[in-house]
Amino acid sequence: MTFDVAIIGAGVAGLSAARELSGARRQICIIEARDRIGGRVLTQHLPDLPLPIELGAEFIHGEADSTFSIVDAAALTACELPDNHWWSRNAQWRLVDFWARIASVQSRIDNLKKDMSFAAFLSSRRNLSRRLRELALGFVEGYHAAHADRISTLALSSADGEQDEGGNKQFRILGGHDSLVEWLRAGLDPGRSEMILGTPVTAVGWRKGSVEIDAGAKKLRARRALITIPIGVWKAAPEQEGTIRFDPPLREKSKAIAKLEVGHVVKIVLRFRERFWDDPAFLRRRVGREARHGMPLNFVHSSDPFVPTWWTTAPVRSPILTGWAGGHAADRLLAEGPEALTSRALDSLSKVFGVRRRTLDSMLAATWTHDWQRDPFSRGAYSYAAVGGGAAHRALARSVESTLFFAGEATSGDETGTVAGAIASGRRAAKEILG
Ligand SMILES: Cc1cc2nc3c(=O)[nH]c(=O)nc-3n(C[C@H](O)[C@H](O)[C@H](O)COP(=O)(O)OP(=O)(O)OC[C@H]3O[C@@H](n4cnc5c(N)ncnc54)[C@H](O)[C@@H]3O)c2cc1C
Repeated sequence: MTFDVAIIGAGVAGLSAARELSGARRQICIIEARDRIGGRVLTQHLPDLPLPIELGAEFIHGEADSTFSIVDAAALTACELPDNHWWSRNAQWRLVDFWARIASVQSRIDNLKKDMSFAAFLSSRRNLSRRLRELALGFVEGYHAAHADRISTLALSSADGEQDEGGNKQFRILGGHDSLVEWLRAGLDPGRSEMILGTPVTAVGWRKGSVEIDAGAKKLRARRALITIPIGVWKAAPEQEGTIRFDPPLREKSKAIAKLEVGHVVKIVLRFRERFWDDPAFLRRRVGREARHGMPLNFVHSSDPFVPTWWTTAPVRSPILTGWAGGHAADRLLAEGPEALTSRALDSLSKVFGVRRRTLDSMLAATWTHDWQRDPFSRGAYSYAAVGGGAAHRALARSVESTLFFAGEATSGDETGTVAGAIASGRRAAKEILG
């Protein structure tokens, strides 16, 4: 049988496109390397824990229609996060107006004429205070999972469309991010869609109007293909697991791929026996008079070299803290090896929260993490533009000969690195295919 469209990858981009295409009566086949769908959405549901554990995507950033259209259609419960950010220095915390501070740095980028790395930009701006510098660096290396000495400053400009609908509001889906994925899957027309899991595609042979997919023992034919593999897989050396050989090669994509970088991340979720951070005496020691602010504690930032950012599950009360390291901090942690990860994270938590390591050890009940860098089907966190790479996301998105189409967060012009951007890219690609 010849399918109308072969979709490579069952992350949210591939599934969003699949849903649109099967709804438009196209015969489709989705081929996924892993034995599960969802890609970088990886939610664990545990029998003794009512809250889902998110090892991949967790927050809905802003109120982008691509995500909220699903939240509404599937009647999911999205819960808005209290927007409080603390900065920890020597375990003393100060409340910071996080987004206003980031916007003030972004507004200085808007006048920049020539692109440079964000690290170079920071050192060229002598009038920035030390605190603002640390905060901005933490944001770029954390939120964007980027390396400040490689990321394009111009791509970070507030004029570059980064401010999505809903501004800086953030939400969590109470039932788990995987409920978005499940809604996408459930909408596929079973008579028109086939899903093949646990089958990495290794080669795509193509000519205008015809594609041959090679996935080990499985061979498929289609009129068109939609490729949604992550940027880490695009950039991997040809002999590495997960990579796809195109015949003829996609020379027109090589410049875009070279100008996109792979962000690095380590996310570790820690379950404790008690919510020690909500104890009024603990809070008084950390924040003094500001303890009266009355909001449930949410984000704590620092310049710790290993795990600089921590967050709670606020507004939901639970004994869970999540540690986040992006960019160079992630590289430092990864260099120490997986055995050292929990211990390093607890050392950082001890410093940032001012709690003795021994006390943390005695309260720790469980830990969860996933190595996105070693995972052959992600090979990193998400994409960011290198210096001079402001147009690279859109170049990667461009179809080839009306036969090969491209989606995934790395093809999103203005919402890279997010689930919203990936969903929108899948819908955009489906529209292109439907002509
Ligand atoms: C730790 C972490 C935290 C994050 N937190 C957030 C967050 O809070 N909010 C947010 O909006 N975003 C977040 N993101 C980003 C978000 O998860 C991604 O942008 C989004 O899920 C990407 O979807 P996608 O469909 O483009 O790619 P993927 O989900 O990566 O899907 C691509 C699919 O292709 C498959 N594949 C790869 N190679 C092959 C092959 N050779 N053959 C067949 N299949 C293949 C993969 O297995 C995968 O299923 C986070 C990401 C990470 C890693």
